[in-house]
Amino acid sequence: MSGALLLTGIGQLLTLRGAVPRRGWALADPGIIRDAAVLVRGDRIAAAGPRREIERLPEARRARKTDLGGRVMLPGLVDSHTHLVFAGSRLEEYELRLAGATYEEIARAGGGIQSSVRGLRAARPAELERGALARLVQFAAHGTTTVESKSGYGLDLANELKILRVQRALARRQPVEIVSTFLGAHVVPPEYRRRPQAYVDLVTRRMIPAVARERLAEFCDVFCDRGAFTPGQARAILAAGRAWGLEPRLHADQLARTGAARLAIEIRAASADHLDRVTGSDIAQLGRSGVVCTLLPGASLHLGVPFAPGRALVDAGAIVALATDFNPGTSPTLSLPMAISLACAGMRLAPAEAIAAATVNAAYSLRRHDRIGTIEAGKQADLAVFDVADYREIPYYFGVHLTSMTLKRGKIVYARDGVRGWPRSAPGDA
Ligand SMILES: [Zn+2]
Repeated sequence: MSGALLLTGIGQLLTLRGAVPRRGWALADPGIIRDAAVLVRGDRIAAAGPRREIERLPEARRARKTDLGGRVMLPGLVDSHTHLVFAGSRLEEYELRLAGATYEEIARAGGGIQSSVRGLRAARPAELERGALARLVQFAAHGTTTVESKSGYGLDLANELKILRVQRALARRQPVEIVSTFLGAHVVPPEYRRRPQAYVDLVTRRMIPAVARERLAEFCDVFCDRGAFTPGQARAILAAGRAWGLEPRLHADQLARTGAARLAIEIRAASADHLDRVTGSDIAQLGRSGVVCTLLPGASLHLGVPFAPGRALVDAGAIVALATDFNPGTSPTLSLPMAISLACAGMRLAPAEAIAAATVNAAYSLRRHDRIGTIEAGKQADLAVFDVADYREIPYYFGVHLTSMTLKRGKIVYARDGVRGWPRSAPGDA
Protein backbone atom coordinates (compact mmCIF):
# COMPACT_ATOMS: atom_id res chain seq x y z
CA MET A 1 0.00 0.00 0.00
CA SER A 2 1.34 3.44 -0.91
CA GLY A 3 1.06 6.43 1.40
CA ALA A 4 -1.61 7.88 -0.88
CA LEU A 5 -5.25 8.47 0.05
CA LEU A 6 -8.08 7.88 -2.42
CA LEU A 7 -11.28 9.83 -1.73
CA THR A 8 -13.94 8.28 -3.91
CA GLY A 9 -17.72 8.17 -4.22
CA ILE A 10 -17.89 11.97 -4.54
CA GLY A 11 -21.37 12.77 -5.89
CA GLN A 12 -20.37 16.26 -7.03
CA LEU A 13 -16.78 17.49 -7.09
CA LEU A 14 -16.67 21.29 -7.43
CA THR A 15 -13.17 21.80 -8.81
CA LEU A 16 -13.42 25.58 -9.42
CA ARG A 17 -10.72 25.03 -12.07
CA GLY A 18 -10.25 27.68 -14.75
CA ALA A 19 -8.98 31.23 -14.97
CA VAL A 20 -8.19 33.06 -11.72
CA PRO A 21 -9.61 35.41 -10.53
CA ARG A 22 -13.24 34.74 -11.42
CA ARG A 23 -15.54 37.47 -12.62
CA GLY A 24 -18.67 37.82 -14.76
CA TRP A 25 -20.15 34.60 -16.14
CA ALA A 26 -17.08 32.60 -15.09
CA LEU A 27 -18.00 33.16 -11.43
CA ALA A 28 -21.06 30.94 -11.92
CA ASP A 29 -19.13 27.93 -13.34
CA PRO A 30 -17.97 25.70 -10.48
CA GLY A 31 -16.34 23.11 -12.79
CA ILE A 32 -18.43 20.19 -11.54
CA ILE A 33 -17.41 16.57 -12.02
CA ARG A 34 -20.13 14.07 -11.07
CA ASP A 35 -19.23 10.66 -9.58
CA ALA A 36 -15.68 11.78 -8.97
CA ALA A 37 -12.58 10.78 -7.02
CA VAL A 38 -9.54 12.64 -5.70
CA LEU A 39 -6.16 11.04 -5.14
CA VAL A 40 -4.08 12.70 -2.42
CA ARG A 41 -0.34 12.14 -2.16
CA GLY A 42 1.28 13.71 0.89
CA ASP A 43 0.05 17.28 1.16
CA ARG A 44 -0.89 17.56 -2.53
CA ILE A 45 -3.65 16.55 -4.92
CA ALA A 46 -2.10 13.92 -7.22
CA ALA A 47 -5.19 13.56 -9.43
CA ALA A 48 -8.84 14.65 -9.49
CA GLY A 49 -11.48 13.60 -12.00
CA PRO A 50 -14.15 11.04 -12.91
CA ARG A 51 -14.10 8.10 -10.47
CA ARG A 52 -13.53 5.46 -13.17
CA GLU A 53 -10.46 7.26 -14.50
CA ILE A 54 -8.90 7.96 -11.11
CA GLU A 55 -9.56 4.49 -9.67
CA ARG A 56 -7.74 2.98 -12.66
CA LEU A 57 -4.47 4.74 -11.79
CA PRO A 58 -1.88 2.28 -10.38
CA GLU A 59 -1.23 4.55 -7.39
CA ALA A 60 -4.97 4.76 -6.66
CA ARG A 61 -5.26 0.97 -6.50
CA ARG A 62 -2.62 0.82 -3.79
CA ALA A 63 -3.97 3.82 -1.87
CA ARG A 64 -5.97 3.91 1.36
CA LYS A 65 -9.56 4.36 0.29
CA THR A 66 -12.42 6.42 1.77
CA ASP A 67 -15.83 6.25 0.11
CA LEU A 68 -17.74 9.48 0.61
CA GLY A 69 -21.12 7.94 -0.20
CA GLY A 70 -22.18 10.47 -2.86
CA ARG A 71 -21.37 13.55 -0.80
CA VAL A 72 -20.27 16.91 -2.24
CA MET A 73 -16.64 18.05 -2.13
CA LEU A 74 -15.44 21.66 -2.43
CA PRO A 75 -11.99 23.19 -2.13
CA GLY A 76 -11.25 23.94 1.53
CA LEU A 77 -13.01 27.25 2.24
CA VAL A 78 -10.83 30.37 2.42
CA ASP A 79 -11.91 32.99 4.96
CA SER A 80 -10.14 36.13 3.78
CA HIS A 81 -11.29 38.58 6.49
CA THR A 82 -11.34 37.79 10.23
CA HIS A 83 -10.27 39.25 13.56
CA LEU A 84 -9.32 36.00 15.26
CA VAL A 85 -7.34 37.09 18.31
CA PHE A 86 -9.23 38.92 21.07
CA ALA A 87 -10.19 38.57 24.72
CA GLY A 88 -13.74 38.44 26.01
CA SER A 89 -17.00 38.92 24.14
CA ARG A 90 -19.12 41.99 23.45
CA LEU A 91 -22.40 40.63 24.78
CA GLU A 92 -23.29 43.85 26.62
CA GLU A 93 -23.23 45.96 23.49
CA TYR A 94 -25.06 43.23 21.58
CA GLU A 95 -28.02 43.72 23.89
CA LEU A 96 -27.66 47.52 23.79
CA ARG A 97 -27.77 47.45 20.00
CA LEU A 98 -30.81 45.17 20.01
CA ALA A 99 -32.46 47.73 22.29
CA GLY A 100 -31.83 50.50 19.75
CA ALA A 101 -28.30 51.93 20.25
CA THR A 102 -26.27 52.31 17.05
CA TYR A 103 -22.76 50.94 16.50
CA GLU A 104 -21.37 54.47 16.43
CA GLU A 105 -23.23 55.57 19.61
CA ILE A 106 -21.73 52.60 21.42
CA ALA A 107 -18.26 53.45 20.07
CA ARG A 108 -18.58 57.07 21.30
CA ALA A 109 -19.48 55.80 24.77
CA GLY A 110 -16.23 53.80 24.95
CA GLY A 111 -17.73 50.49 23.84
CA GLY A 112 -17.19 48.75 20.53
CA ILE A 113 -13.61 48.30 19.36
CA GLN A 114 -12.32 50.28 22.39
CA SER A 115 -13.72 47.65 24.77
CA SER A 116 -11.92 44.92 22.82
CA VAL A 117 -8.74 47.03 23.06
CA ARG A 118 -8.99 47.16 26.87
CA GLY A 119 -9.51 43.39 27.04
CA LEU A 120 -6.68 42.63 24.63
CA ARG A 121 -4.15 44.84 26.38
CA ALA A 122 -4.89 43.14 29.70
CA ALA A 123 -4.67 39.59 28.33
CA ARG A 124 -1.58 37.38 28.44
CA PRO A 125 -0.45 35.78 25.16
CA ALA A 126 -1.24 32.27 26.46
CA GLU A 127 -4.88 33.27 27.13
CA LEU A 128 -5.21 34.83 23.69
CA GLU A 129 -3.74 31.73 22.11
CA ARG A 130 -6.15 29.44 23.96
CA GLY A 131 -9.20 31.41 22.84
CA ALA A 132 -8.08 31.63 19.23
CA LEU A 133 -7.23 27.92 19.13
CA ALA A 134 -10.80 27.00 20.12
CA ARG A 135 -12.08 29.25 17.31
CA LEU A 136 -9.76 27.59 14.77
CA VAL A 137 -11.23 24.20 15.69
CA GLN A 138 -14.66 25.63 14.82
CA PHE A 139 -13.40 27.10 11.53
CA ALA A 140 -12.11 23.65 10.50
CA ALA A 141 -15.39 22.05 11.61
CA HIS A 142 -17.21 24.31 9.13
CA GLY A 143 -14.91 23.44 6.20
CA THR A 144 -12.49 26.38 6.42
CA THR A 145 -8.82 25.55 5.85
CA THR A 146 -7.26 29.02 5.49
CA VAL A 147 -8.03 32.05 7.66
CA GLU A 148 -6.77 35.59 7.21
CA SER A 149 -6.54 37.34 10.57
CA LYS A 150 -5.91 40.95 11.48
CA SER A 151 -4.34 42.64 14.46
CA GLY A 152 -6.04 45.88 15.51
CA TYR A 153 -7.19 45.42 19.11
CA GLY A 154 -3.76 46.36 20.51
CA LEU A 155 -3.32 49.84 19.05
CA ASP A 156 0.12 50.33 20.57
CA LEU A 157 3.39 48.81 19.46
CA ALA A 158 3.69 46.14 22.16
CA ASN A 159 0.11 44.93 21.91
CA GLU A 160 -0.08 44.92 18.12
CA LEU A 161 3.09 42.81 18.11
CA LYS A 162 1.54 40.59 20.80
CA ILE A 163 -1.43 39.74 18.55
CA LEU A 164 0.71 39.06 15.49
CA ARG A 165 3.10 36.87 17.49
CA VAL A 166 0.13 34.88 18.84
CA GLN A 167 -1.00 34.38 15.24
CA ARG A 168 2.45 33.17 14.25
CA ALA A 169 2.57 30.76 17.20
CA LEU A 170 -0.89 29.42 16.27
CA ALA A 171 0.12 28.97 12.65
CA ARG A 172 2.85 26.61 13.84
CA ARG A 173 0.86 24.55 16.35
CA GLN A 174 -2.39 23.73 14.56
CA PRO A 175 -3.30 22.84 10.95
CA VAL A 176 -5.48 25.77 9.74
CA GLU A 177 -3.33 28.13 7.65
CA ILE A 178 -3.22 31.68 9.04
CA VAL A 179 -2.49 34.72 6.89
CA SER A 180 -1.54 37.72 9.02
CA THR A 181 -2.57 41.30 8.33
CA PHE A 182 -1.39 44.30 10.32
CA LEU A 183 -4.36 46.55 11.23
CA GLY A 184 -2.73 49.03 13.60
CA ALA A 185 -5.04 51.62 11.99
CA HIS A 186 -8.28 50.05 13.20
CA VAL A 187 -9.40 53.07 15.22
CA VAL A 188 -7.51 55.90 16.95
CA PRO A 189 -6.87 54.69 20.52
CA PRO A 190 -8.23 56.85 23.38
CA GLU A 191 -4.80 58.18 24.38
CA TYR A 192 -4.45 59.74 20.88
CA ARG A 193 -8.04 60.94 20.46
CA ARG A 194 -7.05 64.63 20.42
CA ARG A 195 -4.03 64.12 18.13
CA PRO A 196 -4.88 61.48 15.53
CA GLN A 197 -2.00 62.55 13.27
CA ALA A 198 0.45 61.56 16.00
CA TYR A 199 -1.11 58.09 15.99
CA VAL A 200 -0.81 57.86 12.18
CA ASP A 201 2.87 58.77 12.59
CA LEU A 202 3.28 56.05 15.23
CA VAL A 203 1.74 53.49 12.87
CA THR A 204 3.84 54.51 9.85
CA ARG A 205 7.17 55.23 11.57
CA ARG A 206 7.33 52.67 14.35
CA MET A 207 4.73 49.93 14.09
CA ILE A 208 5.01 49.09 10.37
CA PRO A 209 8.83 48.84 10.41
CA ALA A 210 8.71 46.66 13.56
CA VAL A 211 6.06 44.35 12.06
CA ALA A 212 7.97 44.07 8.79
CA ARG A 213 11.37 43.45 10.41
CA GLU A 214 9.92 40.54 12.39
CA ARG A 215 8.05 39.31 9.27
CA LEU A 216 4.84 39.20 11.28
CA ALA A 217 2.41 40.15 8.48
CA GLU A 218 1.92 39.94 4.73
CA PHE A 219 -0.70 42.67 4.40
CA CYS A 220 -1.46 46.10 5.86
CA ASP A 221 -5.08 47.13 6.39
CA VAL A 222 -6.82 50.37 7.43
CA PHE A 223 -10.38 50.88 8.70
CA CYS A 224 -11.14 53.81 6.40
CA ASP A 225 -14.57 54.98 7.43
CA ARG A 226 -16.55 57.58 9.37
CA GLY A 227 -15.27 57.57 12.96
CA ALA A 228 -12.04 55.78 12.00
CA PHE A 229 -9.42 56.95 9.44
CA THR A 230 -9.85 59.31 6.48
CA PRO A 231 -8.83 58.34 2.93
CA GLY A 232 -5.86 60.73 3.25
CA GLN A 233 -4.62 59.01 6.42
CA ALA A 234 -5.28 55.58 4.92
CA ARG A 235 -3.28 56.50 1.80
CA ALA A 236 -0.25 57.47 3.92
CA ILE A 237 -0.44 54.35 6.11
CA LEU A 238 -0.87 51.95 3.19
CA ALA A 239 2.00 53.62 1.30
CA ALA A 240 4.25 53.12 4.32
CA GLY A 241 3.12 49.49 4.55
CA ARG A 242 3.84 48.90 0.89
CA ALA A 243 7.31 50.43 1.23
CA TRP A 244 7.98 47.76 3.86
CA GLY A 245 6.60 44.95 1.68
CA LEU A 246 3.08 44.76 3.14
CA GLU A 247 0.43 44.68 0.43
CA PRO A 248 -2.59 46.95 1.08
CA ARG A 249 -6.18 45.91 1.83
CA LEU A 250 -8.91 48.22 3.16
CA HIS A 251 -12.04 48.23 5.31
CA ALA A 252 -14.00 50.40 2.88
CA ASP A 253 -17.34 52.22 2.85
CA GLN A 254 -19.05 50.10 5.53
CA LEU A 255 -20.66 52.78 7.72
CA ALA A 256 -20.54 55.71 5.31
CA ARG A 257 -19.41 56.39 1.76
CA THR A 258 -16.07 58.13 2.42
CA GLY A 259 -14.27 57.33 -0.82
CA ALA A 260 -12.36 54.33 0.51
CA ALA A 261 -13.37 52.10 -2.42
CA ARG A 262 -12.00 54.74 -4.82
CA LEU A 263 -8.78 54.82 -2.81
CA ALA A 264 -8.51 50.99 -3.04
CA ILE A 265 -8.73 51.25 -6.83
CA GLU A 266 -6.26 54.15 -6.99
CA ILE A 267 -3.57 52.34 -4.99
CA ARG A 268 -4.36 48.88 -6.48
CA ALA A 269 -5.14 47.32 -3.12
CA ALA A 270 -5.41 43.53 -2.94
CA SER A 271 -8.93 43.87 -1.55
CA ALA A 272 -11.62 46.38 -0.56
CA ASP A 273 -13.80 44.89 2.17
CA HIS A 274 -17.41 45.52 3.32
CA LEU A 275 -18.53 48.00 0.56
CA ASP A 276 -22.02 48.22 2.09
CA ARG A 277 -22.39 51.86 1.04
CA VAL A 278 -20.88 51.93 -2.46
CA THR A 279 -23.03 53.49 -5.15
CA GLY A 280 -23.48 53.18 -8.92
CA SER A 281 -20.29 54.85 -10.12
CA ASP A 282 -18.14 53.12 -7.44
CA ILE A 283 -19.65 49.79 -8.49
CA ALA A 284 -18.85 50.42 -12.16
CA GLN A 285 -15.25 51.35 -11.34
CA LEU A 286 -14.76 48.38 -9.00
CA GLY A 287 -16.14 46.17 -11.77
CA ARG A 288 -13.38 47.28 -14.12
CA SER A 289 -10.62 47.13 -11.49
CA GLY A 290 -8.34 44.36 -10.27
CA VAL A 291 -9.33 44.98 -6.63
CA VAL A 292 -11.10 42.04 -4.98
CA CYS A 293 -14.44 43.14 -3.47
CA THR A 294 -14.65 41.17 -0.22
CA LEU A 295 -18.24 41.11 1.00
CA LEU A 296 -19.07 40.42 4.64
CA PRO A 297 -22.79 39.67 4.97
CA GLY A 298 -22.42 38.35 8.53
CA ALA A 299 -21.63 41.87 9.76
CA SER A 300 -24.66 43.32 7.97
CA LEU A 301 -26.91 40.63 9.46
CA HIS A 302 -25.59 41.06 12.99
CA LEU A 303 -25.80 44.88 12.81
CA GLY A 304 -29.25 44.73 11.23
CA VAL A 305 -28.30 46.89 8.24
CA PRO A 306 -28.82 46.33 4.49
CA PHE A 307 -26.44 43.98 2.70
CA ALA A 308 -23.74 45.22 0.32
CA PRO A 309 -24.79 45.34 -3.36
CA GLY A 310 -23.29 41.94 -4.21
CA ARG A 311 -25.47 41.24 -7.24
CA ALA A 312 -24.68 44.64 -8.77
CA LEU A 313 -20.95 44.12 -8.17
CA VAL A 314 -21.00 40.69 -9.83
CA ASP A 315 -23.02 42.08 -12.76
CA ALA A 316 -20.52 44.95 -13.11
CA GLY A 317 -17.74 42.38 -13.53
CA ALA A 318 -16.12 42.79 -10.11
CA ILE A 319 -13.90 40.10 -8.55
CA VAL A 320 -16.17 39.26 -5.61
CA ALA A 321 -14.98 37.32 -2.54
CA LEU A 322 -16.90 36.36 0.60
CA ALA A 323 -15.67 36.16 4.18
CA THR A 324 -17.12 35.91 7.70
CA ASP A 325 -15.53 39.09 9.18
CA PHE A 326 -15.43 36.95 12.33
CA ASN A 327 -14.99 39.34 15.28
CA PRO A 328 -16.57 39.75 18.71
CA GLY A 329 -18.43 43.00 18.01
CA THR A 330 -20.11 42.89 14.63
CA SER A 331 -19.87 39.37 13.19
CA PRO A 332 -19.51 36.58 15.75
CA THR A 333 -19.79 33.72 13.28
CA LEU A 334 -17.15 31.14 12.36
CA SER A 335 -19.25 29.67 9.57
CA LEU A 336 -18.32 30.51 6.02
CA PRO A 337 -21.20 28.29 4.80
CA MET A 338 -23.50 30.71 6.70
CA ALA A 339 -21.89 33.66 4.87
CA ILE A 340 -22.53 31.79 1.61
CA SER A 341 -26.22 31.40 2.58
CA LEU A 342 -26.47 35.10 3.42
CA ALA A 343 -24.83 36.11 0.13
CA CYS A 344 -27.45 34.06 -1.71
CA ALA A 345 -30.50 35.16 0.28
CA GLY A 346 -29.41 38.74 0.98
CA MET A 347 -27.36 39.72 -2.08
CA ARG A 348 -28.92 37.45 -4.71
CA LEU A 349 -25.75 35.62 -5.60
CA ALA A 350 -26.25 32.20 -7.16
CA PRO A 351 -24.97 29.32 -4.99
CA ALA A 352 -22.15 28.61 -7.47
CA GLU A 353 -21.12 32.29 -7.45
CA ALA A 354 -21.06 32.45 -3.66
CA ILE A 355 -18.95 29.27 -3.47
CA ALA A 356 -16.43 30.63 -5.99
CA ALA A 357 -16.29 33.83 -3.93
CA ALA A 358 -15.45 31.87 -0.75
CA THR A 359 -12.79 29.69 -2.38
CA VAL A 360 -10.90 30.68 -5.51
CA ASN A 361 -11.46 34.45 -5.36
CA ALA A 362 -10.74 34.60 -1.63
CA ALA A 363 -7.50 32.67 -2.27
CA TYR A 364 -6.64 35.21 -4.98
CA SER A 365 -7.17 38.12 -2.59
CA LEU A 366 -4.66 36.46 -0.22
CA ARG A 367 -2.23 35.84 -3.12
CA ARG A 368 -2.36 32.08 -2.59
CA HIS A 369 -4.30 31.10 -5.71
CA ASP A 370 -1.33 29.15 -7.10
CA ARG A 371 -1.64 26.75 -4.15
CA ILE A 372 -5.22 26.79 -2.74
CA GLY A 373 -8.83 27.62 -3.72
CA THR A 374 -9.36 24.98 -6.45
CA ILE A 375 -9.19 21.19 -6.71
CA GLU A 376 -6.62 20.32 -9.39
CA ALA A 377 -3.58 18.07 -9.64
CA GLY A 378 -0.60 19.78 -8.04
CA LYS A 379 -2.63 22.00 -5.71
CA GLN A 380 -2.48 21.64 -1.95
CA ALA A 381 -4.92 18.96 -0.70
CA ASP A 382 -7.21 21.39 1.16
CA LEU A 383 -10.67 19.85 0.84
CA ALA A 384 -14.11 20.19 2.43
CA VAL A 385 -16.79 17.48 2.27
CA PHE A 386 -20.46 18.32 2.86
CA ASP A 387 -23.25 15.99 3.89
CA VAL A 388 -25.41 16.82 0.87
CA ALA A 389 -26.07 15.35 -2.58
CA ASP A 390 -26.25 18.71 -4.39
CA TYR A 391 -23.99 21.69 -3.67
CA ARG A 392 -26.96 24.08 -3.71
CA GLU A 393 -28.13 22.50 -0.45
CA ILE A 394 -25.15 24.12 1.31
CA PRO A 395 -26.67 27.65 1.21
CA TYR A 396 -30.26 26.37 1.05
CA TYR A 397 -30.19 24.82 4.56
CA PHE A 398 -29.00 28.04 6.17
CA GLY A 399 -27.55 27.78 9.64
CA VAL A 400 -27.43 23.98 9.48
CA HIS A 401 -24.03 22.41 10.08
CA LEU A 402 -23.46 20.15 7.06
CA THR A 403 -19.66 19.81 6.95
CA SER A 404 -18.74 16.17 7.33
CA MET A 405 -14.99 16.20 6.71
CA THR A 406 -12.21 18.76 6.31
CA LEU A 407 -8.70 18.00 5.06
CA LYS A 408 -5.77 20.40 5.30
CA ARG A 409 -2.57 19.58 3.41
CA GLY A 410 -3.84 16.03 2.91
CA LYS A 411 -4.59 15.36 6.59
CA ILE A 412 -8.08 14.96 8.02
CA VAL A 413 -8.47 17.84 10.48
CA TYR A 414 -12.19 17.43 11.08
CA ALA A 415 -14.52 14.46 10.66
CA ARG A 416 -18.04 14.34 11.97
CA ASP A 417 -18.49 11.34 14.25
CA GLY A 418 -19.67 8.29 12.41
CA VAL A 419 -19.50 9.91 8.99
CA ARG A 420 -18.21 6.72 7.40
CA GLY A 421 -20.94 4.29 6.57
CA TRP A 422 -23.73 6.65 7.62
CA PRO A 423 -26.27 8.02 5.18
CA ARG A 424 -26.12 11.69 4.33
CA SER A 425 -27.79 13.93 6.87
CA ALA A 426 -29.16 16.83 4.78
CA PRO A 427 -32.77 17.30 5.88
CA GLY A 428 -34.18 16.79 2.36
CA ASP A 429 -32.56 13.43 1.77
CA ALA A 430 -35.00 10.57 1.50
ZN1 LIG B 1 -13.00 43.65 9.77
